[in-house]
Amino acid sequence: MKSEKIDISNDPKNGSVKDILAGIVNQPPKNAILLDKSLLPSKGMFYPDKIYVKKLSTINIKKLATITEQNSNFVINNILKTSIWDGNGFDYTKILVADKIWLIFFLRSYTYNDIPFKVRYECKNCGTIAHYDFVLKNLSVSYYEKPLPEYFEINGDQISIEYPTINTEMAVEKIKNDPNTLLDIDPGLLDFSSYITKINGREVTLLTAYEYVSELDGMSFTKFTNLVSDYMFIATPYGKFKCTHCDEEIEIPIPFSPSFFLPKI
Ligand SMILES: [Zn+2]
Repeated sequence: MKSEKIDISNDPKNGSVKDILAGIVNQPPKNAILLDKSLLPSKGMFYPDKIYVKKLSTINIKKLATITEQNSNFVINNILKTSIWDGNGFDYTKILVADKIWLIFFLRSYTYNDIPFKVRYECKNCGTIAHYDFVLKNLSVSYYEKPLPEYFEINGDQISIEYPTINTEMAVEKIKNDPNTLLDIDPGLLDFSSYITKINGREVTLLTAYEYVSELDGMSFTKFTNLVSDYMFIATPYGKFKCTHCDEEIEIPIPFSPSFFLPKI
């Protein structure tokens, strides 16, 4: 039988060959795993894309071990940038701020097969001093429970909010660090304002949202923050345990320290 060269690119049945080839090029690297998004504080509800993560590299571990209060956000973002595979069009800036801390703890756990981190703690209830083994499942996490309403009714206005991403946070930081910002910006209020996307159905900029929030009367502002807090979720760097002696629920701070990110194995 005569063999013929088949030009697959012109065959309509193989119309997607190009796409398939592009798909092969875009395979996640060997050292990346598919993240089970349901484990996140957000339960992955805001990420239609697959998320692939890589183990912490030596350089990232070094960076994490030198984290301070001043550089923590910069370091954490940098770690997420290099540990989340972006070949499928999903990059770290789409991560919700509320999921960041959990991801850092997850990466540590994944990198070291969840090796326990020993913490010493004195129970405030019974005074017992004991050592506890912190692993990922002990991390203090509150989860996404219910969808946000289309808007909150505040002071006669309809205010729509969304959960800020790293991208949103970057815009916030830019304003905070801008020496030309004429307004005397309150950092906490600006963070809160970054949740607001629409006022009375109209999309608003961060600064417009900030101006709106700063001019609210105290009662309306308190009502607003209380309403919103019902929809919040986050991981905090604390380990949840039960006192070995009295069974009291205890929360132990887990430090971002060299010994945490460079455990003795
Ligand atoms: Zn106790």
